[in-house]
Amino acid sequence: MLTLTIDEQRWHRHLRSVVEAHPGIVPVAKGNGYGFGIPRLAATAASLGADVLAVGTYAEVAAAREGFDGTVLVLSPWRPSETRTVYDPRVVHTVGRLEDLDELRARAGVDRPRVVLEVLTSMLRHGFRRRELREAAARLDGLDVEGFALHLPMAHGSHLGEVGRLMTDVVASGIDVRRVYVSHLTDAELASLSSSYADFELRPRIGTRLWLGDRGALRVTATVLDVHPVERGDVFGYRGRTAPRQGHIVVVSGGTAHGIGLEAPTGGATLRDRAARIAKGGLDAAGFVRSPFTIDGKQRLFAEPPHMQASMLFVPHDTPVPRVGDRVDVRVRFTVSTFDEIALG
Ligand SMILES: *Cc1c(COP(=O)(O)O)cnc(C)c1O
Repeated sequence: MLTLTIDEQRWHRHLRSVVEAHPGIVPVAKGNGYGFGIPRLAATAASLGADVLAVGTYAEVAAAREGFDGTVLVLSPWRPSETRTVYDPRVVHTVGRLEDLDELRARAGVDRPRVVLEVLTSMLRHGFRRRELREAAARLDGLDVEGFALHLPMAHGSHLGEVGRLMTDVVASGIDVRRVYVSHLTDAELASLSSSYADFELRPRIGTRLWLGDRGALRVTATVLDVHPVERGDVFGYRGRTAPRQGHIVVVSGGTAHGIGLEAPTGGATLRDRAARIAKGGLDAAGFVRSPFTIDGKQRLFAEPPHMQASMLFVPHDTPVPRVGDRVDVRVRFTVSTFDEIALG
């Protein structure tokens, strides 16, 4: 089993500290729910007192509602192809094109869909440009505009100059709404903007820093499923590889279905580094690639690429090997991971 163990007290202490430091926080629970699953994050957001929860897509709205009865903000922009949701009193659409505004109004009839107007940032992902924002102002009849949204790139330097320009566009649009949902601002930037735009309510949308901000509260382990001693030259695996030296093949749970993937080859990336390692006869010279599984304090090499639900590791003979049933630590990217089990520790 690939298990995520949450140190519940520590995790909740961290969550509360992030919530307290970010008044108006909108927790983001999208995709695989950052490894926790959307329903668990939704229930956790409710317990933290959040009134709005953001999801990525319309397909995720139902899961978010399982444990959360506040407002669900959909981050992907509404498009006419979205036929599931036009008006829903608990759903806020993100809209970023004039034709989508028009279509949403036309479909809604007498209902008043709740919308957030996304402003195009240097991300160039979605949103209204300055002139379109002014045009949008005249096309909002029948919609409840709850705010603007700014999705900023991960910081390479300060966002303040860009946000300042965008806020000028927001004010110039003439749309009389004073709430802005922002993504990826630092705490210092948030503080600075809150004082520069004191008449605006800034609502930071935060996922990673909230759910995954204290990695020490989270531990991922894999179960050792089998251990086989091998001599140099012994054949193993799907591809009939041979062991480069004496050691053990250790089979652990966790494979591609869990999001376990190949990592970059160990050591330096240059040809010269690689030539040097091959000259030394290292295991990576035999084409072995580092795995995220740790045995005896070291990340071990994959004996072959991960299988769907298990991985085969090669452990050289001078290393203590775990026993079947033992657990080994695994380093994962939470946003692509699926766990067999989530345990509270
Ligand atoms: C995913 C997402 C976020 C949250 O991003 P994190 O880096 O996980 O905090 C915020 N805003 C938007 C628009 C997003 O798509």
